[in-house]
Amino acid sequence: MSSGSPITILSFEDARHLVEQHASQIRARGTETVELLAGAGRVLAEAVLADRDIPPFARSTRDGYAVRAADLFELPARRNVIGEIKAGESLERIPSRVSSGQAVAIMTGAPVPDGADAVVMVEYTARDGDWVEITKGVAAGDNIVPRGAEARQGAVLLDRGLRLNDVGVALAASAGKTKLAVYQRPRVALLTTGDEIVEIGGTPGPTQIRNSNSYSLAVQIQEAGGEAVLLPIAPDEPKALRELIALGLQSDLLLMTGGVSMGRYDLVEPVLAEMQAEFFFTGAKIQPGRPVVFGRCAQRYFFGLPGNPISTMVTFELFARPMLEALAGQAARKLMFLHARLKKEIRIKTGLKRFLPAILAGEFEDCGVELVRWQGSGDIAATARANCYIVIPDDREHIAAGEWVAVMMR
Ligand code: AMP
Ligand code: MG
Repeated sequence: MSSGSPITILSFEDARHLVEQHASQIRARGTETVELLAGAGRVLAEAVLADRDIPPFARSTRDGYAVRAADLFELPARRNVIGEIKAGESLERIPSRVSSGQAVAIMTGAPVPDGADAVVMVEYTARDGDWVEITKGVAAGDNIVPRGAEARQGAVLLDRGLRLNDVGVALAASAGKTKLAVYQRPRVALLTTGDEIVEIGGTPGPTQIRNSNSYSLAVQIQEAGGEAVLLPIAPDEPKALRELIALGLQSDLLLMTGGVSMGRYDLVEPVLAEMQAEFFFTGAKIQPGRPVVFGRCAQRYFFGLPGNPISTMVTFELFARPMLEALAGQAARKLMFLHARLKKEIRIKTGLKRFLPAILAGEFEDCGVELVRWQGSGDIAATARANCYIVIPDDREHIAAGEWVAVMMR
């Protein structure tokens, strides 16, 4: 079978940007309502607004004494203690006014009474009956968060398109949201190809291997907010492959693994071309994952991910994830790498951007990264020992120990 698809091999950055461009035009699926805690990891389909000012009253951030700051020009200062305010104090029990010469004992989280404009920490005071001696001055505003300083009533606390984490859930809780509107999870069809691949429950023949890609991808999909739909393994035969691709195109996104290299039995591209697919790229200058394919067929996006297990994992991370996140309703975000010091030098050929399995180790501010020894992009065992990838620019032949390198965490 001859390939009907044009060959377009892009730089890593161009390929990534092209995916981002398509992702920005995607619409999420419908919405559903979930309990607050079930919203963790989900994408907000509505903005969460402040139902009142935050904080709802001028809040003391310390245990101490509420005073008028301008009063404390001479130290130590003796002040008459006219009351005590604990957190949650009822309004009637709060002194209506703090005047010159007075102080009010106040606890963390309690409302600051009118007239007071600062809180002296209890550590700088000595109590003596109805009197307190203050040994340290304060500026107006010290140890007080003014009413509405964190958010005004009606302000947007959490934007639509945000994927909720612990902080997001806490903020929604503070605004009294017991339920949240979130986007439905996109369904991602997984189609693995190859006559040598058998299902994990089966017994592989002497030249066969078990399907691992569908499982790594299912985990990555779940983690990115999608739902994996595993299709049967496609043989290296056009008719069966075509039928399974057609089935996969009924999901929101189709991911295929294997069959995208230049081999005689790499049939994914020719079959898709026959099905009138558009191809946006058919390769990227990266390693692992060079033969990665991105396109659209029957109004569905698809990726052909190279079959080598680490190529599959890396190309999902680099290209499929932003598309999946967009389908999940998540706001676009750029891919960012961290930096770490290289522990052992790297020598490599130029021409491809590399994402090589590595171990970041150390403690606190003192850590470094080094490559794991591996047998290439089929080596799942070596990659299982890694916790990141070192990202090597395509023009670097040698990176010395001690240099800073970009790192993509896994
Ligand atoms: P391909 O991209 O089809 O040329 O496959 C590249 C390599 O990845 C071959 O060694 C395949 O056996 C292997 N491979 C392909 N699909 C899978 C899979 N689902 N699980 C594990 N290995 C795979
Ligand atoms: Mg194959």
